[in-house]
Amino acid sequence: MAGRTRVGILALQGDVREHAHILTRLGAEAVRVRRPDELATVQALVIPGGESSVMDKLTRAFGLQHPLRDAIAAGLPVYGTCAGLIMLADRITDAIEGQQTLGGLDVTVRRNAFGSQVESFEIDLDVPAVGVRPVRAVFIRAPRVEHVGPGVESIAALPDGSVVAVRAGNLIATSFHPEMNGETRFHALLLEMAQRR
Ligand code: GLN
Repeated sequence: MAGRTRVGILALQGDVREHAHILTRLGAEAVRVRRPDELATVQALVIPGGESSVMDKLTRAFGLQHPLRDAIAAGLPVYGTCAGLIMLADRITDAIEGQQTLGGLDVTVRRNAFGSQVESFEIDLDVPAVGVRPVRAVFIRAPRVEHVGPGVESIAALPDGSVVAVRAGNLIATSFHPEMNGETRFHALLLEMAQRR
């Protein structure tokens, strides 16, 4: 179908299928990205949740770290959820030894920031950037954004002020998982960014 936006999902590890489902519902063509030549064909990219330290290792093992960094720097629209947010952060605290990120977002992110008792929780969040209806946000061993650099916009925070969604240029990232409960509006933002480019 002409004009369908081709969106990659980094498919080394994590909840790839849920993102594919949301993107397909929005009318996009969702493709798995595991190799540099696959990355080269997409107009936008989702980095899913999972485990950021494993995703980092696999990204390097598959020769994707540099192509991904180059694509981000060249303006490819990218949406990262949870571990994907960690992958996009310029700086992380509580990383494992030697853990690297792709970077691009001038933020500092703390992994597993919400502690062992409340590793997973759900809450309704106001996110005016995606509309007036609140977002039902699912947090699973989620990171928190602890420092937001100039040029990065916080688009959602918890009642205690913890920043949990940000946007800057071609990048969007959330600590939570909209794909898990059928929330489509963040992926729709990504598609708009791809179509405007
Ligand atoms: N705690 C995971 C990490 O550090 C992220 C969890 C998630 O993506 N749901 O990568």
